Amino acid sequence: MTWQLRVDKTLCGATGMCAALTPELFELRDAYAEPVRSEIEPDELALDAADQCPMQAILVTENGKEIGPRP
Ligand code: SF4
Repeated sequence: MTWQLRVDKTLCGATGMCAALTPELFELRDAYAEPVRSEIEPDELALDAADQCPMQAILVTENGKEIGPRP
C-alpha cells in the first residue's frame, strides 16, 4: 500500500511549517512547498502535516481516496 502526497501550489502560503515538521516528507521551494517524494509508505506524520497546514494545501490520498487532511 502506498500513499500519494500533493501540495496545491495555488493554496500554499510558503510558511515552511510542513518542511520544518517533516523534512523527510516536504521541502520548501521559493514560493511553495513540495513533497520530497510523491509516493510514500503510509506515514502518520504525513496526515499530521496535512492537518496542520494552515492553508489546507497538503493532500494525502490512498488509491485516489482522500485521507488527509482529516475532518
Ligand atoms: S504548511 Fe502548508 S502553507 Fe505552509 S509551506 Fe507547507 S504546504 Fe505550504
